[in-house]
Amino acid sequence: MKSLDSFPRVSLGVFPTPIQRLDNVSALLGTNVYVKRDDLTGLGLGGNKTRKLEFLLADAKAQGAQLVFTTGGAQSNHAMLTAAASARLGLKCILVLKKRGVTDCVGNQLLEKLMGTDVRFVDTDDYADIYEEMDRIGAEAGLPYYKIPCGGSNALGSLGYVNCVREIAAQGEHFDFLVCAEGSGGTMAGLALGAKLFLPGTRVCGMMVDSDPFERITLELMREAAALLETELPLSAADFELRDLCGPGYAIPSAEGNAAVSLLAAREGLFLDPVYTGKAFAGLIQMAEEGRFRPEDKVLFLHSGGAGGLFAVS
Ligand SMILES: *Cc1c(COP(=O)(O)O)cnc(C)c1O
Repeated sequence: MKSLDSFPRVSLGVFPTPIQRLDNVSALLGTNVYVKRDDLTGLGLGGNKTRKLEFLLADAKAQGAQLVFTTGGAQSNHAMLTAAASARLGLKCILVLKKRGVTDCVGNQLLEKLMGTDVRFVDTDDYADIYEEMDRIGAEAGLPYYKIPCGGSNALGSLGYVNCVREIAAQGEHFDFLVCAEGSGGTMAGLALGAKLFLPGTRVCGMMVDSDPFERITLELMREAAALLETELPLSAADFELRDLCGPGYAIPSAEGNAAVSLLAAREGLFLDPVYTGKAFAGLIQMAEEGRFRPEDKVLFLHSGGAGGLFAVS
């Protein structure tokens, strides 16, 4: 297998991120709940995209890009962090975002305004149209450009989360469960592949906050990331488990997600977000209620960030 360290990376974050036990929530749920603080990755207001961007923007630089494009919803955390990372690296960045959702100058839109980011809204839900628009803008700009997919979720970006599991393993504790939000798939695929490599015996659970075919997406991304790493590890959908927490729709808050946001704020002084981590934590609570965790189990919840979303609820 190829070493993760053989892939070029730019340094954007502060690692390792801490792992903390949530004493009050653990007592409430009757198991041991820990949180991996990837909301403290050290770029912008933190979040999971920092780890992916360390690999993706190194690739952009290696290819000689001077202009970086990415896309997502109007309040995309990934887009905001891509703009922040590009600013640090001296790359020009243009965000081509979907017009649907909260486009007011709040949340991530406000942060992008503060950074002076070039944001273009397109009135489509079709990513093929969006990537075409990037090619049009790129040709017009006359600069070598690099297109990062929605959420940074391709095989290279997923390596950021394979690496995160290596980091967790090095932090020394064993975990029975690893729980995360799944929005575009790269984080979950990286964690599931990383667990096979570095934390065998840890069950990885993805809480789906959108309605895409995540079983297929996750497995495809795992296989592509494994191919980059040149490992022949047998992979299957049995390597992870998924749960539907989307509720009324992607980026539309749900009652159980909001309850989780309030619970963690009130009991732990920890702020989740209504789009990803609140819904994901609601899934963890459901699992506890269904008796999935033994009192002695250790459950690690990935806090993947999303602070901007707290200030942009519709
Ligand atoms: C993007 C995002 C996720 C989901 O990660 P994917 O790799 O897109 O599945 C989870 N939480 C937050 C806060 C995010 O911004």
